[in-house]
Amino acid sequence: MVIECKHVWNYISEYLDGTLPEETRTIVQRHLEHCEICSAILDSTRNIIILTADDRVFELPVGFSERLHARIDLELAETER
Ligand SMILES: [Zn+2]
Repeated sequence: MVIECKHVWNYISEYLDGTLPEETRTIVQRHLEHCEICSAILDSTRNIIILTADDRVFELPVGFSERLHARIDLELAETER
């Protein structure tokens, strides 16, 4: 089974939490091994989680996720070219 990047992004927080079912986790892991975009997103998501864990009042800058997704779309458009 092959999944698209978009699906991986939906799974990332659960993947990091370790709450994904074994089967899904394996699929996501396999995708991350060969996808630079998703592994970069995984890294930045992990960093955000570390930041928020350090300081409970930490908030993401307004528009952060919109900018992140715009960036992802751009990267995808460039890889597909
Ligand atoms: Zn990907």
